[in-house]
Order: sequence, then C-alpha cells, then structure tokens
Amino acid sequence: MSVFEHSEFDQHEQVAFCHDQASGLKAIIAVHNTNLGPSLGGCRMWPYASGEEALTDVLRLSKGMTYKAALAGLPQGGGKAVIIGDPRKDKSPELMEAMGKFVNTLGGKYITAEDSGISVTDLQKMAEFSDYISGTSGKFCFDGSPNDGNPAPGTAYGVFVGLKASVEYALNRDLKGVKVAIQGMGHVGYRLARHLHEQGAELFVADIFPEGPAKAAEEFGATVVTTDEILSLDVDVVAPCAMGAILTIDSVNSMKAKVVAGAANNQLATESVGELLREKGVLYAPDYVINAGGIIDIYHQQGDSTAERLRLHIEQIGQTLKDIYARSEAESLPTNLVANLMAEETFKKAAN
Ligand code: NAD
Repeated sequence: MSVFEHSEFDQHEQVAFCHDQASGLKAIIAVHNTNLGPSLGGCRMWPYASGEEALTDVLRLSKGMTYKAALAGLPQGGGKAVIIGDPRKDKSPELMEAMGKFVNTLGGKYITAEDSGISVTDLQKMAEFSDYISGTSGKFCFDGSPNDGNPAPGTAYGVFVGLKASVEYALNRDLKGVKVAIQGMGHVGYRLARHLHEQGAELFVADIFPEGPAKAAEEFGATVVTTDEILSLDVDVVAPCAMGAILTIDSVNSMKAKVVAGAANNQLATESVGELLREKGVLYAPDYVINAGGIIDIYHQQGDSTAERLRLHIEQIGQTLKDIYARSEAESLPTNLVANLMAEETFKKAAN
C-alpha cells in the first residue's frame, strides 16, 4: 500500500524508510508537521509483525506528537521513529549506529528521544553519529535536583499540576482530603502519589505487581486495592498511570469519580468515549496535554535553560487544561475534541 493512501496518513510532511543490510536495521521515520519547529518524538523498537504495522504506528504516533508539542507551548513539531525488531534479541551497537546515521540524514528536521525498547545507552550510541539525538543526559529536574535523563519526574509533576487544576475546576476545592485512585505504581504513578500525599490527598493504588503499591502504602498511607476495582472506586479522581485504552463504555459507565486525570497515553478506547465522559459529567484531562511534562523536560535539557524555567513551563499545563475545560463547557464539546481543535489552531496558524 502507498503511504499516501494509508488510513493514518494525514498530511505528513515526510516519511523516510531505511534498510541497512550490514546491521539488519529496518526503520521508519515519520515527520508529521514542522510548522512550529523541528519535529521531536521518541524512537520505538518493537517486534512489529509487518512493515505495514510499523508504518501505521509511526504515522499515528508522529501526528500525536504534533498535537502534544503544540499544546505544551513548545517551538517544536511532531515526529516519531520506529525500528522493526525485538529489543531483547535484535539490538546491537551496529544497529544503533545505523539508526543514528539514519536520523542524521534528515538534517535536523527530526530529533529523536527515548520510547519503548530504547534506552539512554542506545541514544548515546546514536548520538555518536548524529547531532539530532536528545535524552542522552539530563542536567536538572524541575525542582533543581539532578536529572539522569529520565523524563518521569517531569511527567509526574505535570500530571500533579494538571490533576490539581482539574480538581479546582470540577470540584472547586484544593487537594486536601480529595480521594484519588491511581492505576499503576510505576515511574510516574509512584511519583504522582508522593506529590498528592504531600498535599493531603487520600490515596488508593493498584498495580499488577505488589511492590509499588506496598511502597505507597508504607510511605503515603495509601490503600491497596485490586486492579479490577481501581477504576470504579467511590473516589473523586481516577488517575490512569498504567496502559492505554482503559476508558471504555463499560469502565466509564461504572465510574464514580468526577475527574479523570492521569499520565497514561491513549486513555480513550475510542474518541467517542470522550463524549460519554462529558454526558456523565466526568471531567477528562486529555492525556497528551496532562502528560506533556516529560517532553517539556526533554526540551529544556537541550540549550541553556534552568530548573526554574522548566518548572514554570510544566506548570502551564494547569492553565492549558482550564482553557480546554472552559471552551468545552462553552461549546458543549468533549475535552478531547477541544484539545485537538486548540492544537490544530496553534500549529496550522504557525504555517501562515
Ligand atoms: P511504568 O512501566 O514505569 O509503570 C506502569 C505501571 O503500570 C507498572 O508498574 C505496571 O506494572 C503497571 N500496570 C500495568 N498494567 C496494569 C494494570 N492492568 N493495572 C494496574 N497497573 C498496571 O510506566 P511509566 O513510565 O510510569 O508510565 C506510565 C504511563 O504513562 C504509560 O502509559 C506511559 O506511556 C505514560 N507516559 C509516561 C511518560 C514518562 O515520562 N514515563 C510520559 C508520558 C506518558
């Protein structure tokens, strides 16, 4: 199938394919839009069943990055790279060298970063062969503490700020005593729990592995519940911090929370679930808006920014969400659609 007829093709500026026989690299880079600046987005290594599957993923993900960067107030566009292969079996320094050279061929139109299957070490190898590799090291976290290149602290702080703004908007209160159910006690979920605990929130946590919840129970007095019940608890806020597609017709219908605000990517099983949330009076923080702290962090690690500027930039997530909520109410549109409209207005305007 031609790229131009592909169902996920949406005015992408450039789609580049690479095959390097010596290393076995098979990769695709998609640059969706560069109106706001060079495209930025992670490199994912995944054992795709076919080139078609990899193309679908890279077209969809690169477009998502354009929207995310636009609403995060970044002077950057959207792009993404995928490597076809199993990161546990097919990785080699030669493969990363070939990928670095491939990124370099785009001359800075695409800047890569970490995604599933790619580590900081892999990026460091790529960076030997290209100037357009970010996330190889970090200088500072938003709170001034050292940064090892992991974007999770920035993501978690952004989700915390966004959750707080959402509670203010929907419930007209601060976080003291607010009941929050966090699905997933991983890199982001655990850090979010700490921020919320510091503000006096009451926590409920679930994970498929026991270690994270046990730690949250001990350190933050969180109540550990099962993964089956976490989304339907009698709480004020649900914070999805595990995997995507968890907001389905069934899960939303059994939800008692009035706010959904969490880090997970692609939380809506289908876009129409956004309308169901609106009808039920549940305020949904669009995932790519509230979880942008990590990409904002990566942006500030390049160049000569400071921890203070990074923190202030992440904190803008709260106002962006409030703007989305106000427009959603004024125009009777679900928040996910309003976010898309606002992102499009931003990056399409930049073309003029
Ligand atoms: P992680 O892998 O560290 O944590 C995810 C946690 O969810 C794990 O502890 C896992 O055991 C748990 N989990 C998996 N399935 C579950 C289920 N059914 N019920 C409950 N728990 C389950 O990942 P992370 O870095 O914390 O990211 C969390 C989410 O946020 C992901 O969707 C990720 O794509 C998204 N995100 C992360 C970042 C970042 O900076 N790390 C940035 C943007 C978006």
